[in-house]
Amino acid sequence: MTNKNYQQLVEKLSEISYLNGVMSTLGWDQEVVMPMGASEARAQQISALAGVIHERTTDLRLGDCLAALETEDLDGFNALQICNIREARRKYDLETKISKKLVKEMAELSSQGHTVWVAARQDNKFSDFAPLLKRFIKLKKEWAQCVFPDMEQYDANIDNFERGTTMAEITPIFERLKMELIPLIQSIQDRQYQPDSSFLQGTFPVGKQEALARKISKDIGFRFDCGRMDVSVHPFCGGSHPTDVRITTRYKDSDFIESLYAVIHETGHGLYEQGRMLEERDLPASESLTMGIHESQSLFWERMIAQSKNFCVHYFETIQATFPDNLQGATADSLYRAINTCKPDFIRVEADELTYPLHIILRYEIEKGLFDDSIAVDDLPEVWNDMMMKYLGIKPPTDTLGVLQDSHWSSGAFGYFPSYTLGAIYACQFYKTMTNELPDVENKIETGNFAPIKTWLNEKIHRQGSLYTPQDLVHRITGESLNPDYFIDYLKRKYSAIYQL
Ligand code: ZN
Repeated sequence: MTNKNYQQLVEKLSEISYLNGVMSTLGWDQEVVMPMGASEARAQQISALAGVIHERTTDLRLGDCLAALETEDLDGFNALQICNIREARRKYDLETKISKKLVKEMAELSSQGHTVWVAARQDNKFSDFAPLLKRFIKLKKEWAQCVFPDMEQYDANIDNFERGTTMAEITPIFERLKMELIPLIQSIQDRQYQPDSSFLQGTFPVGKQEALARKISKDIGFRFDCGRMDVSVHPFCGGSHPTDVRITTRYKDSDFIESLYAVIHETGHGLYEQGRMLEERDLPASESLTMGIHESQSLFWERMIAQSKNFCVHYFETIQATFPDNLQGATADSLYRAINTCKPDFIRVEADELTYPLHIILRYEIEKGLFDDSIAVDDLPEVWNDMMMKYLGIKPPTDTLGVLQDSHWSSGAFGYFPSYTLGAIYACQFYKTMTNELPDVENKIETGNFAPIKTWLNEKIHRQGSLYTPQDLVHRITGESLNPDYFIDYLKRKYSAIYQL
């Protein structure tokens, strides 16, 4: 096809994609190998590059190209090309519909935000963080008004991470989760029993942990010829391109499970990136869809596969041989139980899969209240603690362990939290469909035959890029809308068995 406007659009979008790849590599370098002394210089480099990217993404000629294409008859265009135009329009509007003043205010607040939050958290003093939070909510309401004037302001913020998903869809799903999970967690608490996990304590040499994690990541399909695994303070998945995907983890010699499961989680993200379609790799159509769908891929491997009994059976001997002194008396079954314990606690990132959704629902309800003004910022510590009591039966002794624990609000990331739990629900629903379509999934896991599982995810999700909305994608794959029943069934069945309820 030789449409001049489209050719020009492709050139501009490819260049933006290359520049974003450079930015991402710089970010990875900063987290993984950069010497501390370089942080100021690196900040300047990143800021200069961000300026160039901003120029390119708000280039008036890009807008002209899009406007011209939108008046044309797109009959000769294929689905990928139409998707590129649609996605480019969305991004262009997101970048250009807001005033320079608002962009600048948000950027400034965001760079102050982290420092203010770190200090407030350290001093356990919410009142030091509150003024910044108030300003951010005000700015994010303004932002919503500019970019999505027809939407509720909180919906607009959710849309930024999980497009097309609104409170109207999320609230009933979260209400169901509360109704089902709160009593389930309560009955586990009442049981006053915890599986034996003493063999997971002790010393686990980091070198052995790394070799084990690398093996498992490779076994489930991570391509080390198009990726790397390194160490950083917080595990993440980055990299510049589907051919250069970088995952990280961190090691504690007192705990190998945390690191191993972080690697499996990040491998799930990495497989999504490595599995993107082979065509149009530098164009929006090939890009991963949303935060929630991305999280569905990491949680698919971390929970649906690696926290299953079959996975423990397959890897038990390998793990035992890696740490023979520690796991002497353990069995595949005791390993399975030990990595699937449920215990309400204060910190979201350390929560198990059963209590995790309640941490998210609490944040969702608070954000919703902050945006419709039914909750005041100054009341947050009390509101937080009351909800923790209601949902998990525990009350944080400090705000550091409560309302101040997450960094998201300090950078203005409102509407992000629901993606985590939507991802968990997507993962379960995808898994259910996969077990209907692929014979003997459990046996495949138990024999370490992960290739058909990875291929299924590649075809159904990774290669679909941004062609569909999450709603359409879920429907195309599973034949129905997002349905929390599978997630609830999975949790009930699994934890009733482990805790003999
Ligand atoms: Zn993740």
